[in-house]
Amino acid sequence: MARIYNFSAGPSMLPESVLLQAQQEMLNWQDSGMSVIEMSHRGKHFMAIAEAMKNDLIELLGIPANYKVLFLQGGASAQFAMIPQNILNGKTKACYVNTGAWSTSAIKEAGKYCEVQIAATSEAEKFTTIPAFDTWNLDKDAAYLHYTSNETIHGVEFSDVPDAGDLPLVCDMSSNILSRPVDVSRYGIIYAGTQKNMGPSGVTVVIVRDDLVGLAPKTVPAVFDYQQQAKADSMLNTPATYNWYLLGLVLQWLKQQGGIAAIEQQNIRKAGKLYQAIDQSTLYSNPVVKEYRSRMNVPFVLADAALDKEFLALADKNGLGSLPGHRSVGGMRASIYNAMPEAGVDALIDFMAEFERTH
Ligand SMILES: *Cc1c(COP(=O)(O)O)cnc(C)c1O
Repeated sequence: MARIYNFSAGPSMLPESVLLQAQQEMLNWQDSGMSVIEMSHRGKHFMAIAEAMKNDLIELLGIPANYKVLFLQGGASAQFAMIPQNILNGKTKACYVNTGAWSTSAIKEAGKYCEVQIAATSEAEKFTTIPAFDTWNLDKDAAYLHYTSNETIHGVEFSDVPDAGDLPLVCDMSSNILSRPVDVSRYGIIYAGTQKNMGPSGVTVVIVRDDLVGLAPKTVPAVFDYQQQAKADSMLNTPATYNWYLLGLVLQWLKQQGGIAAIEQQNIRKAGKLYQAIDQSTLYSNPVVKEYRSRMNVPFVLADAALDKEFLALADKNGLGSLPGHRSVGGMRASIYNAMPEAGVDALIDFMAEFERTH
């Protein structure tokens, strides 16, 4: 079978040139005589890989000097717990905005550590919108405000940075980091699992402002303490070395594409034409308020759900894979991260039009 256009939400498609380079370097990385998989994380070869990877991320996102950049394990899910553990700093409350399944998971986990004040929620609208900022109910005594910039399952994305007042703003950017420019200085913490828009699974990027480092109580395990991880360059335990290397290759690729501003233009174009195709059809629809539609994850349903199975089977046959929606919402979902070529989106749109014509 030829390589398909893979619309998986994560782990997801990687640029083909990255996979080819990894293949070429698999047995012998840059004349080192070793595969990256076999290298000591303390050795000079891997140290060079790690440093270049971190510097490329700092450059791409424009991360200011007063932030630590950590590469941890446990996914975004571990951060759901690590954030309250690290930055409650003696306070008993945190504010959360609930815009979908991933916010809900973050809220549930935080509830083990503190009182969670729901500052705003779109649950009554079935997570198809984002509550207007001026309706958010913040508590100035809370430790921080948490939100999810892109809801991977519901296909809802913030177009602006919310105003958190004096509260540190904490954001789960797992599924839209590196897809659009971001002013890191507006945030206390940005975190993201890498398997959506950055590389393979197994690494979690955590960008944390210096004043939020070193606040964890002594009972927090060392590997979960931002300060201890920062001091150890995220190598308090053996890191996921090969995944760091692949992440580094994706960042180099992104720089070659012209960086985030350039990829954003592609993302606007790709998402724009897919939503247009959905809106113009009578068979397909997307429930999300236009202003908040995600550029990364495009859920859609068929007017007749009885056709779902045939749609998915035929799509698979046509080399368009992983289109089923999340099991919790059903329907379809096309994840079109940075690495999805525009030709893949075009192929999906053509397939959808042909399916509509014949059904
Ligand atoms: C996938 C995802 C998560 C969970 O990531 P893990 O790495 O599996 O823990 C959390 N938040 C968002 C927005 C996601 O897309």
